[in-house]
Amino acid sequence: MVDKMLRSIISALLKAAAAASFLCLSLLSPVLIPPLYAGAALDSLNEITAPAESPVVPWPPEPPAAGPAASVSAARALNVYFISVGQGDSEYIELPNGKNALIDGGPSKSTGSLLAQFLARHNVTKIDYVVLSHPHTDHYTGLNYVFSNFTVGNFYDTRMDNLGSAADNALRDRIRGLGVNVSYPAPGDALDWDPDVQAKVFNSCPVSTQSFSGQAVNNCSIVIKAAYQRSSVLFAGDIENEVESALVSKYGGELQADALKVAHHGSSTSSGEAFLAAVKPCDAYISAGAGNNYNLPAAAVLARLWAAGATVHQTDMDGTQEFSIGASPSPAGQALAFMR
Ligand SMILES: [Zn+2]
Repeated sequence: MVDKMLRSIISALLKAAAAASFLCLSLLSPVLIPPLYAGAALDSLNEITAPAESPVVPWPPEPPAAGPAASVSAARALNVYFISVGQGDSEYIELPNGKNALIDGGPSKSTGSLLAQFLARHNVTKIDYVVLSHPHTDHYTGLNYVFSNFTVGNFYDTRMDNLGSAADNALRDRIRGLGVNVSYPAPGDALDWDPDVQAKVFNSCPVSTQSFSGQAVNNCSIVIKAAYQRSSVLFAGDIENEVESALVSKYGGELQADALKVAHHGSSTSSGEAFLAAVKPCDAYISAGAGNNYNLPAAAVLARLWAAGATVHQTDMDGTQEFSIGASPSPAGQALAFMR
């Protein structure tokens, strides 16, 4: 309890410091206004705070225009859900063009799993793009459910064979048997998901390799940055420090993202200072199971994320999290980005 209070206090202090230095102005709302970058912060802040001219409002108010224009603008958001799937990873993405993507499937293939419940609630009937970040059970098991219950258009895989498991290859064989388009993106590749979204691969293992080592398997994780309008989300899979360092050397500031799916469930062998300094996340999302056996997220990682100025969201404590770019304000006028 004391730990929790301390964490809240430290988080609040660091958030205040970050806000004061305009590091994460998109915290104000990546939704109600176009997301801001630090460089544009002062001008944009003036825009926000400048007194607006009184709009001329007809009375009685006219009903909102019906028809295609309204539905088109409603669909123009990029919505990312960090799904609470227990100890594992699964992220669902609604693309502005109406297509959808799923990165990983969490640890359960049960029809009553948390992933199954989420997809049902969101009326998902088909998935255009499914990504397996890397072949560990907490990422691929739930994809068995997905491929059994949904039509999938494309499957993106990394060419790592986890020798500690046979079930990953059984799933892959099954997917190939379904006639799904399978591809193995290489670092630097762009994923053709939506002409308005830049989805770039920063890490993967595009050449066949095998290992018993959990670390080696983690380091083959497909890492994707999805950028839309002036905001972005980086999905870091389970990469560990050595790959993070390589990415910083290779891509530097290109790694910058407003939201970060924290690598490896907040494990201390990931989320190094240099990596976080390059990403500069305003919002950090950790997917971990409540009371998990690994004591994740690690306290050291939380401290590093807070020190980097990020607001930390945890699926184990806060449930499924949403980050939206370009959405319309909700009826209550609140930012959807932080809807729980
Ligand atoms: Zn994992």
